[in-house]
Amino acid sequence: PPLDELIASLTVDVPDYPEPGVLFRDLTPVFADGPAFRRMVEGLAAPGASDPRAAAIAEAAGPDSDAGFDVVVGVEARGFLLAAAVALGSGVGVVPVRKAGKLPRERIAADYALEYGTATLELHADSIRPGSRVLVVDDVLATGGTLGAAIALVERLGGIVTAVSVVVELAALGGRQRLAPHTVHTLWTT
Ligand code: IMP
Repeated sequence: PPLDELIASLTVDVPDYPEPGVLFRDLTPVFADGPAFRRMVEGLAAPGASDPRAAAIAEAAGPDSDAGFDVVVGVEARGFLLAAAVALGSGVGVVPVRKAGKLPRERIAADYALEYGTATLELHADSIRPGSRVLVVDDVLATGGTLGAAIALVERLGGIVTAVSVVVELAALGGRQRLAPHTVHTLWTT
């Protein structure tokens, strides 16, 4: 099946989690399926693939061509699972954006509003080389608060966010508009 249909078929909807009125999309069964996980990771690593010209150029350049990014940033915690796999497949490193209090060395922080609650994300101050091209990855784009904070942290360190990839975009929550002018590559929009 097409990747969006595969992801949709494996995702489990959980009503009233983590609080009443919220429909939580549980992607863990997609992660647990070998072929689905592979296709998902390949899709996240090719943020330009939806543009036929980009796909043609990448194909012509061959398998050793530049991935278009120098490092992958993953957002705690499910973003870690994806970012590490994308980085390995692309031949680049992976950097964690973590929740408050988890990083041991000098760090920068950004507060943000969640779909439910508020939180702080942190990034090691020396983790992004100024001018490096960064792919930011997470599992779900809801309101965009989380990815907005992650992007802001990367940019404060001088990184250039060349792409943002998510598995699922919950379109009604307006995250895409919130992250503009950054464009979000999504594998399934619902
Ligand atoms: P946002 O900040 O409102 O865009 O929410 C996105 C963050 O919350 C991501 O890190 C997601 O992992 C998490 N999240 C929000 N809604 C869901 C959901 O329905 N399923 C899984 N994760 C979600």
